[in-house]
Parts: sequence; structure tokens; C-alpha cells
Amino acid sequence: MTATTASALDGAIENLRSWLDAGHRTPQEIRATVYRLGLAWPHFPTGAGGLGLDPVTGVAVTARLSAEFGLPAVPARSVIACGMAAPTLVAHGGGHHHPLLRRIYVDQEIWCQLFSEPSAGSDLANVATTARRDGDRWVVNGAKVWTSLAHEAQWAMLLARTDPDAPKHRGLTYFIVRLDAPGVSVRPLFQITGEAEFNEVLLDDVVIPDSDRLGGVGDGWSVAITTLTSERGALSNVARPGGNAVDRAVRLWHQCEHRNPVDQVRLADLWIRDRLVTATLNRTADDPTGSTGPMHKVLSAELHQDVAEFTAGLLGRGALEYPRGYPMTRPDTSAEAEHDLLYDYLRSRGSSIEGGTSEILRNIIGERILGLEPEPRVDKAVPWRETRRG
Ligand SMILES: Cc1cc2nc3c(=O)[nH]c(=O)nc-3n(C[C@H](O)[C@H](O)[C@H](O)COP(=O)(O)OP(=O)(O)OC[C@H]3O[C@@H](n4cnc5c(N)ncnc54)[C@H](O)[C@@H]3O)c2cc1C
Repeated sequence: MTATTASALDGAIENLRSWLDAGHRTPQEIRATVYRLGLAWPHFPTGAGGLGLDPVTGVAVTARLSAEFGLPAVPARSVIACGMAAPTLVAHGGGHHHPLLRRIYVDQEIWCQLFSEPSAGSDLANVATTARRDGDRWVVNGAKVWTSLAHEAQWAMLLARTDPDAPKHRGLTYFIVRLDAPGVSVRPLFQITGEAEFNEVLLDDVVIPDSDRLGGVGDGWSVAITTLTSERGALSNVARPGGNAVDRAVRLWHQCEHRNPVDQVRLADLWIRDRLVTATLNRTADDPTGSTGPMHKVLSAELHQDVAEFTAGLLGRGALEYPRGYPMTRPDTSAEAEHDLLYDYLRSRGSSIEGGTSEILRNIIGERILGLEPEPRVDKAVPWRETRRG
């Protein structure tokens, strides 16, 4: 950190301290001031909610602010906006997108991710939604699936095909789009939990101004990589067993009538894994390359599933009942909700799918981090239009 940046940081923290000491402030006022002082994302550029710090220092400053001033954690419904849209806007957007960053942080505008399609999940580069250029605007048609929060979001990140004659990774372009644009319809998808946290989103002649394109025409894949890398970091925390799930399992174990030594060893094992994952996450939270993201996501997701399964098993026959039933509801995303054990068990199944399945993340670790032999990809150099698709 240069001397100028260090003094800008000290000044911003002192300003925040004296402003907070001066009287009662609402959460919205606090967020507005944190943003104005460049402390929202300290590693973002000045004027975009940051101070231009390097990422490692930025993470340390955020941790310090939360410990010293008790700044509230990002609510569940803002994880996509703060953890995925904001870094993508900063890396690939223009200055005219900076007001969106303020609205994400201060007004807590909600974003969603229009990437996956029925035939483009793990094979995301197979996206078939089209964007056709029409002067200084684009006309988009297609269907997206599993779009979390689309029913609450104001904005979406969108990956669309602009050149079907280019190989699949090279014919994609990245846009941002308002969810209230004419031609966007959002339908709930009923999940195993009884909730509809995600949706099908239909795009029917949706018009997007060219100024809402991020990156070059045909460069959508590299912009999407920024979003996906950020997503794995953001989801490592979300996928972790929430609310001290292992401690809850230990409490339940003490009340359980049918304890056996084999399960006792399993419980001890889960506790060890939980503490190790937490310690590793904390130790590598400032990894500026994001290369530890896939590792954290795999570890967190699989631990979440194992703890949820163990705990549900302690309920014995009770685990066969699902008292909340299946009236389709929308989840409460305003805060970290406390869920019952069976809900947690059912929801945990999605942890190893969302944000890239554990199989795909292991492939990424093998190929991109360890430099192992890549998977055979027969359609990589073929025009997308000529590839075989389901
Ligand atoms: C709770 C939840 C929320 C989600 N939210 C969003 C969202 O907001 N926006 C969005 O765009 N998407 C979202 N998704 C979609 C998610 O990204 C996809 O489900 C995921 O990428 C897997 O794609 P798929 O479901 O099509 O499975 P497929 O790609 O069809 O995979 C099926 C199985 O085959 C395996 N497989 C596939 N290819 C390979 C390979 N090359 N090597 C080894 N194994 C392979 C997979 O691991 C998986 O087990 C969400 C999913 C869930 C569960």
C-alpha cells in the first residue's frame, strides 16, 4: 500500500468513526456513508465504493470494519448483487455503471444471474438464448432456468449468443438487463424444500441498449468467468452449514435416546471437518486470485450435506415427516433465516449443484490449478450452430 493510499484509508476510517459517534444512524444512512467514504468494497476504485486498495488489504479492512463498527453482514438476497454483480460491473463495466454499484450497496437493489438454461448448466458455453443487434440496441429471445431471486430482482446479469457461427465460447456476449423490461416473464420453480427460491425466466423480444453490454461483442465468456469466480467465493460462505449446524447436531446428540458408538465417531469427524473448513476459509479469505474458490465451495457444500444428513438421522422416524408440508412459498431472503432440520437436509442437496457442481469444480481444480490433463472437448473449435445439442 502506498503512503497516499494508507493515509486515505486512515482518514476514511476516522471520518466514519466520528460520524457514527455523532448520533443515531439508520442502516441506510450508515451504508450511504460507508459507500461515500470508499469503504463499501475497499479494493474497488475510488468513486466506485472503494479506495483502490489491493484485494488482500481490502479483505482485511472489511473484516476490521465489521469487528470495530459492527457493520451488518450482507443479507442473503444481496449475495448475488454484492458478491457477483458488483465485481463484474467494476471489472468490465463503464463509468456510467458506477451509480448501479451505489444502488447495490446503499439501496440493496437485488440482482439475479440469467446464465443457466435447460441445455446449458455445467456446459454453460452452450447457451442458446440469442441477442440480435438492431442499431444501438439488442433484441433478446430465449429461456433461462434456475434463476435464484428473479422474482425479487431489479436487475440481471445475462449471457446470450450473438454469433452462432463462432465456436461456442467465442459467440457469447454479456449484458445487464432490467427485470421489469417489457418481454421478461418470471415463473416460480417448485423445489424439494416446498419453496420456490428460483425461477424460469422467459425473454421475449427484450430490448437492451448497447450501453448495457459488458465487455466486447463475442467476449461474454471472459466476462462470465469474472462472475463465476466471484460466485464460488460468495457461495463458499453461503454453502457452509449455517447457524453452527454441527453444534446443533452435538446438542441433539445429547438428547438422543438411541446413541451408538459408530455415530459418535461420525459426529466427532464432522466437528473436526467443520473446524478445519472454517479455519481454512478464514486463513485464505484474502486470496486475491480466487483460485481457492472451487476448493472452498466443494468442501463447504459436501460438509453441509453430511452434517444435514447426520442431524436428520438423529430424528429417527421423525425424519419421515415434513411438518411444514408442501404449500409453495417464497423464501424469506431478508435475513439469515433459522431453518428446521428437515428443511436444512432437503436444501443441502442443492449445495453441490448451485454455482457449479462438485464434479465440475473438481475438473476445474485438476485442469486450471494443478495443470492436469484437460477433459476431451470435441466441440471446442466447431461453429456452435453445427454442434450436437440436446
Ligand atoms: C439452488 C440452486 C440455485 C441456482 N441458481 C442459479 C442462478 O441463480 N442462476 C443460474 O444461471 N443458474 C442457477 N443454478 C443452476 C446451476 O448453475 C446448475 O444447476 C449447475 O450448473 C448444473 O447444471 P445442470 O443442472 O444443467 O446439470 P448438468 O450440467 O446436466 O449435470 C448433470 C450431472 O452431470 C455431471 N456432469 C456434467 N458435466 C460433467 C463433466 N464434464 N464432468 C463430470 N461430471 C459432469 C454434473 O456434475 C451433474 O452431476 C442454480 C442451481 C441450484 C441447485
